[in-house]
Amino acid sequence: MKFPIIRDIASKSVVSVDIHESAKSAIDKMLEYEHRNVVVVDNNKYYIISVIDILHLRKQEIPLNTPLAQLKLLKIPVINKNKNVLDTLEFLNESVEYICVINDDGSLYGLLGHTDITSNIDPETLMDNYRLQDFLKLGRRMKWVSKDEKIADLVCDMVSSAYDNVIIVDDLQPIGILTTKDMMRLIKEQADLNVSVEVHMSKPVESIHKNASIKEALDFLKKKHYKRVVIVGDDGKLAGIISQKELISLTYSKWAVLMKEYQQELNEINIMLEGKNREFETIASTDSLTGIYNRYKFSELYLSSAFTMKQRHNEMSLIMLDIDYFKKVNDTYGHNIGDKVLVQVSHTLLKTLRHIDIVCRWGGEEFVALLPTASLENATALAEKIRAFIEALEIDVVGHISASFGVAQVVENEELQSVIERADKALYLAKNSGRNCVKTERDS
Ligand code: GH3
Ligand code: MG
Ligand code: MG
Repeated sequence: MKFPIIRDIASKSVVSVDIHESAKSAIDKMLEYEHRNVVVVDNNKYYIISVIDILHLRKQEIPLNTPLAQLKLLKIPVINKNKNVLDTLEFLNESVEYICVINDDGSLYGLLGHTDITSNIDPETLMDNYRLQDFLKLGRRMKWVSKDEKIADLVCDMVSSAYDNVIIVDDLQPIGILTTKDMMRLIKEQADLNVSVEVHMSKPVESIHKNASIKEALDFLKKKHYKRVVIVGDDGKLAGIISQKELISLTYSKWAVLMKEYQQELNEINIMLEGKNREFETIASTDSLTGIYNRYKFSELYLSSAFTMKQRHNEMSLIMLDIDYFKKVNDTYGHNIGDKVLVQVSHTLLKTLRHIDIVCRWGGEEFVALLPTASLENATALAEKIRAFIEALEIDVVGHISASFGVAQVVENEELQSVIERADKALYLAKNSGRNCVKTERDS
C-alpha cells in the first residue's frame, strides 16, 4: 500500500464564494449546503469563513452586506491535488484545520482536513513510503574493514567498540560479513586468527539498494532469515547497515512522533473549539449591550424555574418594566446616551434583585425579571423597591428617569407567553396611570 494521492482523499463537496460577495452570501451558502464553513476564493488565493466568524461579525455588529474582501479572514494553505499525503505533514504543525487542494491551474479542487491526513498514515504505510536512505543516518554507526585486515586485530576492536558485525569491503564494495557469532565459532574451533578477514568471512554479502522501501528491506530480511541488511548506493559501494530491529523501531518511533504532533495539534484545536463554544454560548444567551440575559435565554431559564417551582410547590412571580419616555431620551441626547441609560438600568436591576432572580432585556427599553419563591405581594414590593432605585438614579447628562412596572404571579404549568401577557397588561395600566408606578394583574 502506498500513501494515497491527495485528490483521492480530499473532499470535493466544497462550497465556495467569491471574495467580492458579501458575508450574507456566505451565510446563505452555509445554510443551503449545511456546511460549517465556506471557502472564500480570491483568484488563486483561498480563505475560509466559518460559523464562528459569522458569530464574531454579529458580536462586533459588522453589517452582513460587508464584502468578504473587507473582512479579516483566515488564509488557508494550498497543495496540488497530485501530491502525496505525506507532503501535507508539514501543515500538521500549523494552526490551520484545512488545506485547499488545487488543480494544476491553481483553481479549487477540494478541501483536505487534518483528520483526512492522519487517518491515511499508519506505520505500515510509513514502511512502504520511507526509503532505506531516509533512515541511514539514524541507524547505528556501522563498521567496515578492508579485506586485508587481520582477524585478530578485528576481535580486539569488536570487543572494545561493541560492534556485533563487520562488513568486509574491497574498494568500498561489500564482499563479505563477519559477525560476533562467526568470531565465537572461530574461537571455539581454535582457528588461526592471524589471517586476513577475507579467509573466514561469510560471502557473498547480499545487499539492497538504498532506494528500497523499509517494507522491501524487511521482506528481504524475512525471506533470507538475516538480522541486518547491507545497503549500497548506485555505485554498488557500501552505504550503511541497519538491523531488522532498528528498521522496525525507527519506523514506529517516526510514526509515534507524527501521531504526537498530530495529537498536540488536535488538543490545541479542541481547546480552541471549547473556547469558541463558550464564546458562542455567551453570545447566544446574552444581550450584547447590557450583558444581561436575552429573551431567548430567559425563556429557557423560565422552563427550568417553572419545573423546580412545581416540584417544590413554590410560588413564582414576574416583573415587567419599561422605561418611561425613553424615546425622548434618545431624541434629546442621542442614541449613545440612550444606550448608557439602558446599561445603567440593567446594573440597577442586577443590584436590586436577589441572587435567585433571573433578569433579562426583553427588548428595546423593556426588562423582565423572574422571581422564584416570590408571591405577587413579595414581587410587588420588590418592583416598588426597583422603581424607587431607578427614580433616584443620577444619570450623567440625562439626570433623572423613571420606569413603569407590571407584576403577575406565575400559575402552575403556565407558559411564559401567558404570564408575560398578564404582566404586560398591568404595565399598560401603569403607563396609563401616569407612569413611574407599579401595577399588578389584580389592578387590571
Ligand atoms: P413610554 O413611556 O410609553 O414607554 O414611551 P417610550 O418613549 O419609552 O416608548 P417607545 O416604545 O415609544 O420608545 C422606545 C424607544 O426605545 C424607541 C427606540 O428607538 C428606543 N430603543 C429601543 N432599543 C434601543 C437601544 O438599544 N438603544 C437605544 N438608545 N434606544 C433604543
Ligand atoms: Mg418606554
Ligand atoms: Mg417600550
